[in-house]
Amino acid sequence: MGCEKMRRHFRKIISIAALLVCVMLLVSCSINQTAPAGGEVETTAEQTTEQRKEPTSVNILAVGDNLIHAVIYNQANRRSANGGYDFSYAYENIADTIAAADISIINQETIIDPTKAPATYPCFNSPVELGDEMVKIGFDVFNLANNHSLDKGQSGLREAIKYWDAKDVVHCGAYLDEEDYKTIPTNTVNDIKFAYVGLTEPTNGLSLPDGAETILMLGADEERIEARVKAAAEISDMVIVNIHWGVEYTHTPTDRQHELAQKLADWGADIIVGTHPHVIQPVEYVKATDGRDVLVIYSLGNFISAQDRGPRMLGGMMHITVTKDYETEKTTVTNAKFTGVVTHYDAGFSNVRVYNLSDYTAELANKHGVRSTTPSFSLEYLNSIVTDVIDEKFLGE
Ligand SMILES: [Zn+2]
Repeated sequence: MGCEKMRRHFRKIISIAALLVCVMLLVSCSINQTAPAGGEVETTAEQTTEQRKEPTSVNILAVGDNLIHAVIYNQANRRSANGGYDFSYAYENIADTIAAADISIINQETIIDPTKAPATYPCFNSPVELGDEMVKIGFDVFNLANNHSLDKGQSGLREAIKYWDAKDVVHCGAYLDEEDYKTIPTNTVNDIKFAYVGLTEPTNGLSLPDGAETILMLGADEERIEARVKAAAEISDMVIVNIHWGVEYTHTPTDRQHELAQKLADWGADIIVGTHPHVIQPVEYVKATDGRDVLVIYSLGNFISAQDRGPRMLGGMMHITVTKDYETEKTTVTNAKFTGVVTHYDAGFSNVRVYNLSDYTAELANKHGVRSTTPSFSLEYLNSIVTDVIDEKFLGE
């Protein structure tokens, strides 16, 4: 090794050593910073392992029926640049509210069978762009069990299930066969595992053919529902039941709704989200036999529709906070608040779109097309339905 070469070699060793000293100094500095004042590093490590896990929470948003009449998909068709359907206009005023929740749940009232043409009342079918838009604005969970599930027969329901299967979302209430049914729909957010059960009481007189392998969850099949809710409770922290029930256009739940709510609670449901009446119904806690307080929302009304009476323009959104306490090992509803959602359209069912009730104005209400059948429709009219139907404790901050 030449002299120059040796010097370079020596300098290299010195600089590596200097670097090592620097690194060691930095590491010891940062350890001292994390150590409590006057405390020892070893004690800190022990404290961390013993530290109790803080409770964790999830914010859930549940909305009602996504009821897509022809005027809604026709306007979407006119607004599309490529001859398809652009539903963004209908939902753009509400999209931030949907996206803000950790989990957003909706009853997809109309099936989406991509193999069939869009159709309106009484046997609905909606374009794929509708479902795509719902996913885009942040819905995570779709109930497929309702009185319109069989509007396009068994094949329509099967195509709809396959459409939702291809999306990165949870859907419940209808299954391709017993094999598909074996997997209970779940999702886990912030270490809280939710299981979903969907079912419907009404089917508009339609039924699956005898021996059909497709499964539609029916309220009448209480044995199946009971087994399902119990199985869902076994594998999750919280069971959310989406149920289509009750009588259309009434704000008052039936005896059957009360009876079934109690049964679902006793079987293990933690939150019961009701839909179908197209108008809002009360919210309450029901006491389960094991002492749990089960949140029951009897009806969230319409999320969107082109129906033609004032009360049907008002839907509900339930904002639910669920908290897991690691000390008690219990997951409970720690907050539940109701806010309104308004379907607005101008004269002649034009420009159908939804608003948060808190964003809706007297001017808009004054121009609402529904005033042709409901002249008393106004902002006060909407607010008074909310205060008449929903218990004060579920309103406000
Ligand atoms: Zn319905």
